[in-house]
Amino acid sequence: MVSLTFYGGVNEIGGNKILLQDGDARIWLDFGKSFTVGEDYYAGWLQPRRVNGVGDYFEFDLLPRLPGLYSEDMLENTSLGYEEPGFDGVFISHAHADHVTHIQFLDPAIPVYTGAGTKLFMEAMEKTSSFANYREHDYRSFRTGNRIRVGPLELEPIHVDHSIPAAYGYIIHTSAGCVVYTGDIRAHGPKHEMTQEFLEAAEYVEPIALISEGTRMELRGRRRNLSEAQVLNGVTKVCKDADRQGKAVFYTHGPRDMDRLHTFSVAAESCGRRMVVSTRTAHLLHRLVEDEHLDLPDPTGDDLVAVYFRRKRSGGYDEKDYYLWEREFLDAMVTSEDLRRRPRDYIVSLGFNAFTELIDIQPQPGSPFIYSMSEPFGEDDLEERMMHNWLDHFGLAYHQLHASGHMSRKELGEAIGRVKPGKLFPVHTENPQLFSDFHGNVVSPTLGETYTI
Ligand SMILES: [Zn+2]
Repeated sequence: MVSLTFYGGVNEIGGNKILLQDGDARIWLDFGKSFTVGEDYYAGWLQPRRVNGVGDYFEFDLLPRLPGLYSEDMLENTSLGYEEPGFDGVFISHAHADHVTHIQFLDPAIPVYTGAGTKLFMEAMEKTSSFANYREHDYRSFRTGNRIRVGPLELEPIHVDHSIPAAYGYIIHTSAGCVVYTGDIRAHGPKHEMTQEFLEAAEYVEPIALISEGTRMELRGRRRNLSEAQVLNGVTKVCKDADRQGKAVFYTHGPRDMDRLHTFSVAAESCGRRMVVSTRTAHLLHRLVEDEHLDLPDPTGDDLVAVYFRRKRSGGYDEKDYYLWEREFLDAMVTSEDLRRRPRDYIVSLGFNAFTELIDIQPQPGSPFIYSMSEPFGEDDLEERMMHNWLDHFGLAYHQLHASGHMSRKELGEAIGRVKPGKLFPVHTENPQLFSDFHGNVVSPTLGETYTI
């Protein structure tokens, strides 16, 4: 008997935790953190205590209470006793938080399967962020083309295009037929042929079930969306205008969206500017160029990239004040003084958490700020309001230019029509009911419910 149980990604965008069982074999497809579930209890500075493991989550049923899943120390202050691992593996689709973060709670003996590139993103995060800690696991890396056997199951990870490199969908050969899981997926990104290869393979196996993401399954798109080429055109135009005025260009994008980073590097080069990135991005870039041979600029050798060093104390940038991993990029250092003196030479990545640097940079009024992310959807998004307050204060001109990491409603419909699954399980969507427009046997999952397929 083959079944699916959905413990996350149900009626929400994010938090995917899908359990697939085939006889005695039990595997997870992703084990991510929810962006919205739990926000009735935890938000902003009020967060679950790290010291209480899964306890602060169990209190409000924010994690499944399953024996044989969590590590002994995470269960310490809960009524759920520790048991030997009862699961055979976790298969991660990509390194976004809503697909991977909650593996931190899992028993370290349960194997965690990731793409080789995904593991690298996770390592870079752990090295450069005090928040990221996935903890010890029995990690097993794969690449497209590998087949992984787990009991009666055989899993085929296949690369897909998404807003982070090393994203995978899965074809899972079960004793009842094939189950296909999209992970997060887009059809018209710079690497759309990878998605086509995945869909082709999915169509070929005539799956009994498709678990499909549906981030953009909505009747009216709420956000303006462009292609990556259109983003490049837009960014280049903003840079050219700023060239004439001798101004710096500021921008922000998803920290691990390497397609977007590439777009900004192309625009920088064509305008004769250096792109300025954070030390954290520099570390990630350096590892990606070295280990994954991605076609990206390397901050240790490529003059196109400069690295912004935040002032650590008045009057100085002492090497000893920076982490060891940051010191690798000292030769590429630019500071707020450099940006103030020669604004025309730079296009500067400035994340929301680095806005205080504007106080040192003192940009010329009218300098452009490109927000290269999807527009926030909250009615009353505090962070968005604060961002605009800062931009207004410094007189920065706001531009929004973004290409989505997800398929549109139309593209999802085409993909479903092509794959023709027996059953369709929508996840990672706020509108599972809209999938019925494209398939006659849609099962909108309920949290924690098991569905035999
Ligand atoms: Zn994602």
